[in-house]
Amino acid sequence: MKPLVIRTVEGFLAWRKTNVEKSVGFVPTMGALHNGHAQLLDQCRLENQISVLSIFVNPTQFNDKKDFDKYPITWEADLETAAQHGVDCIFAPTFTDLYPDNYRFKVSENDFSLQLCGKDRPGHFDGVLTIVMKLFQIVRPERAYFGEKDFQQLSLVQDMVKSFFMPLDIVPVATVREADGLAMSSRNVRLTPEERKVAPKIHEALAQSSSAMAAKDFLETQMGLQVDYVEDLKGRRFAAVKLGTVRLIDNVEL
Ligand code: AMP
Repeated sequence: MKPLVIRTVEGFLAWRKTNVEKSVGFVPTMGALHNGHAQLLDQCRLENQISVLSIFVNPTQFNDKKDFDKYPITWEADLETAAQHGVDCIFAPTFTDLYPDNYRFKVSENDFSLQLCGKDRPGHFDGVLTIVMKLFQIVRPERAYFGEKDFQQLSLVQDMVKSFFMPLDIVPVATVREADGLAMSSRNVRLTPEERKVAPKIHEALAQSSSAMAAKDFLETQMGLQVDYVEDLKGRRFAAVKLGTVRLIDNVEL
């Protein structure tokens, strides 16, 4: 069945009122859907009566305007994916609708959000937490699904929900990978064929090196890649690596 597409907050709130009796699961995304997103949608479908998918490329979480401008948009294919994975409603609002305050108000975390990706992308997690807070207030889900691929984001969202006593469960979903180990990401389509060939080395380095330092050295010295960081933290090994203009992140459990 084709999902319902709602483009305004007002429209969504009106529709939500007609579903108060049902359990609502929520998958927030920036679109350009791939099998990683599909895994979140499948789990959401299984565990809830109603599945809501949001598609919104959130400008406040992009510290680099070029990265925002180049973010892939594949609306027609996304509609198809949503239909195949049992989405009932796609919420795809505009910036002015979601930010009536023009980002005067934000949710800020001042510890973990400043580490790893937070060091290289100032303000990134403020943008993420703010948009997630807004979406949770509108969608009012019982469960929301987040990928371990963005483990730092998942962990910050879990902590925000606890800190503000928000009445929903955050459900983590394991990273979905290509056959060669590369973590699926909307940004992968921007890799050149040569970059795509080297990209799986990121996961290989994380999973097989004896230390974070060894992984960083392998990626920099042997693969000639620009490494933003490789760090061990909270029982996981995290990396961010630039291939040309594309910045990819990944992490594994240690
Ligand atoms: P994005 O559209 O990139 O903001 O991602 C939306 C959600 O999908 C986030 O919770 C991501 O962590 C999750 N996600 C993205 N890629 C993957 C993947 N390869 N495996 C699992 N979850 C993913």
